[in-house]
Amino acid sequence: MRNVAILGSTGSIGTQTLDIISQNSSELNVVALSAGSNIALLEKQIRQYKPTVVAVWDEDKAAELRQNISDLSGIQVLSQMEGLLAVATIPESDILVTAIVGMLGIRPTIAAIEAGKDIALANKETLVTAGHIIMPLARDKQVKILPVDSEHSAIFQSLQGEGHNEINQILLTASGGPFRGMTWEEMQNVTLEQALNHPNWSMGKKITIDSSTMVNKGLEVMEAHHLFNVNLDKITVVIHPQSILHSAVQFNDGAVIGQMGTPDMRIPISYALFYPNRKPIKSDYLDLFEVGKMTFEKPDLNAFKGLALAYKAMEQGGNIPTVLNAANEKAVAKFLKNEIRCVQIPEIIADCMENISYINNPNLDEILETEKLTYEYIEGRY
Ligand code: NAD
Ligand code: MG
Repeated sequence: MRNVAILGSTGSIGTQTLDIISQNSSELNVVALSAGSNIALLEKQIRQYKPTVVAVWDEDKAAELRQNISDLSGIQVLSQMEGLLAVATIPESDILVTAIVGMLGIRPTIAAIEAGKDIALANKETLVTAGHIIMPLARDKQVKILPVDSEHSAIFQSLQGEGHNEINQILLTASGGPFRGMTWEEMQNVTLEQALNHPNWSMGKKITIDSSTMVNKGLEVMEAHHLFNVNLDKITVVIHPQSILHSAVQFNDGAVIGQMGTPDMRIPISYALFYPNRKPIKSDYLDLFEVGKMTFEKPDLNAFKGLALAYKAMEQGGNIPTVLNAANEKAVAKFLKNEIRCVQIPEIIADCMENISYINNPNLDEILETEKLTYEYIEGRY
């Protein structure tokens, strides 16, 4: 039996993780769950999966949940960062699924690694901002960082059995999102509704907006750099609108090994939970005759300025990826409230990257301070 803790169990990745756990209930067991504020769904999950520790970010909601489950015994309900840290480090767990969104996941992820937990990592923002701390720590503690992001799972799967064979390039695929083919000028007045309408994937709101601006692919380039220790000039973004080839690796002999499948996050989730084994999944399997054709294009870096900015942030290094990520989180939150236009997201990121002070090799406190300064900078101006 493998004991699983989940940060963000009520979200898109969290609920799909619970689906995989239900499909394999003799092998996987839930010990801890956490959510931001959706206590109605969290209560259902508690009654079904019987964890011993749960966390709700909001203390008032946590108090309400304690009332609502007062008929159950042996469940601790915590809140705020204390709650996230308790879920991340619960002694009974073997693996933590980081399905929370944003930089909030950094501290619990580090705490879990320090406690010796394997990590099924969906929360890419933690690697973008603190990958230089997380990856060496994981090696030191001998814990596995198992990618859940579909592209990174595909790369990870492509690397199995390759030992020290040299990577020529990583081919990181991208659907291109709802605005693929548009110019920067044509994107000026796209709406929130259009941005939330992803052609292939059903995901949480933040990553859906990130996919429409292609900032998501920029974050994924940085995520790949940290996970696979590959330099930026060896990571090529390839637009592949059908989302069937989830990414690939070209080795030094020219051979390209990739992973294909339907756009179903339960495949990478299941692979991370059972690695190195594979288990059947109840869903439609890939039918290449139905797919018919697969196409590939170069990304338009002039139209998708967020992707170009991510390359720039990586080159600058230090705390600049954190500035990009924090600026993006704040700008996306504003766009989701219709306070800014979609095209202002990369403009705000660029402004912050120019104006927040550079810090070389930032430690955890400096990363969190950079986040705070970036938020304050945006609040004063947009
Ligand atoms: P989501 O918005 O659907 O879910 C986020 C989860 O985090 C929810 O359970 C929510 O309650 C919780 N949460 C939010 N704020 C919180 C807070 N303050 N305290 C505690 N919990 C909080 O997001 P998602 O789409 O599932 O994405 C989760 C992560 O996985 C993101 O980093 C995203 O980039 C990554 N990811 C998602 C997908 C996908 O298909 N959805 C694919 C690849 C990577
Ligand atoms: Mg992805």
